[in-house]
Amino acid sequence: MGPPDAPQLVGSRCTRCREVTFPKQSSCPACTSDSTEEVLLARRGKLWTWTIQRFPPPPPFIGDTEHFEPYGVGYIELPEGVRVESRLTTADPEALEIGMEMELVLEKFVDGPDGEARMSFAFAPVRG
Ligand SMILES: [Zn+2]
Repeated sequence: MGPPDAPQLVGSRCTRCREVTFPKQSSCPACTSDSTEEVLLARRGKLWTWTIQRFPPPPPFIGDTEHFEPYGVGYIELPEGVRVESRLTTADPEALEIGMEMELVLEKFVDGPDGEARMSFAFAPVRG
C-alpha cells in the first residue's frame, strides 16, 4: 500500500466558535470549549514565512544527523485560517517566495530501522 495520492491533514474545528487548529485538539484554544470535531484541511495554502534548516535540529529529531541535508521549513496559511508548520520539499531559497501557492504532498523522510521508508508530510511549491 502506497500513500494516498491526495493526502490531507486532519485538524479540528471548534463547534462553538469555529476556530480551526492543527494538529487537532480536544479543546478549543480560543474559547476553551471541549466540543471540537475533526476536519480535513485544505491541501493548498499560501506560504506565510519560511527558512532553511541548515543544521540538524535537537532531539527528538528522528532524521539522519550524520548525513544531514539542509531542508526548507515554513508556515503554510490554509484557507481555514490556520497556519501549519511543515517541512518544504525544496531547500532552494530561489524557489521560495512568501505568499506563493503551496500544496501538501507526502515524501520519504528517513529510512526506518526495518528499512521501510518513513513518510512525512511536506508542502511543495505549486508550479505554474
Ligand atoms: Zn472555540
